Amino acid sequence: MPDFLLGLANALGRRADCANSRVLILFRRCNTGGVSHSKHNRLIIRRCSAQGGEVFVEKIVKSDQQWQELLSKEEFQVCRQKGTERAFSGEYNGEKAEGVYTCRCCGLALFRSDTKYDSGSGWPSFYQPADGEVVAVIRDVSHGMVREEVVCARCDAHLGHVFPDGPAPTGLRYCINSLSLKLDKDKVG
Ligand SMILES: [Zn+2]
Repeated sequence: MPDFLLGLANALGRRADCANSRVLILFRRCNTGGVSHSKHNRLIIRRCSAQGGEVFVEKIVKSDQQWQELLSKEEFQVCRQKGTERAFSGEYNGEKAEGVYTCRCCGLALFRSDTKYDSGSGWPSFYQPADGEVVAVIRDVSHGMVREEVVCARCDAHLGHVFPDGPAPTGLRYCINSLSLKLDKDKVG
């Protein structure tokens, strides 16, 4: 999302603090769109997708202080400050239980256990998200590397990175911090 839109969403999120911090952003993905409607704590951004379709995304925007109240120190450092847990330290690295991995910050269903595999990397690895729209990928040039950062599409939580060395059918490896996830064993599929 362009910076000016993030700024707008953040401003609206702060303005909505007294009620709740949920900001609804409806957008069509394209490069030529713009803000078409703004009312109360709702923001509609028009963009077109490559397929020409319309995508509806609810954004959750909170201040760092609000996130700190909801998350542990370690969760905040990884999810909101783009940290990385130590390899082989996360609670889901060797997890084999069935269920749906949700966003630790906002609860959005991100990955299914049937797409999890043992990559040997030391972090939970998946070959695809639960749905194409639940994660966003951002070019990350920090630490002298060029990587593709994976974030939650709803709350922008840092999840991990995606690499082109995964198994079939996608050939992708979503390398995700356990601290960014919460396994819901009651949800399957
Ligand atoms: Zn989230």
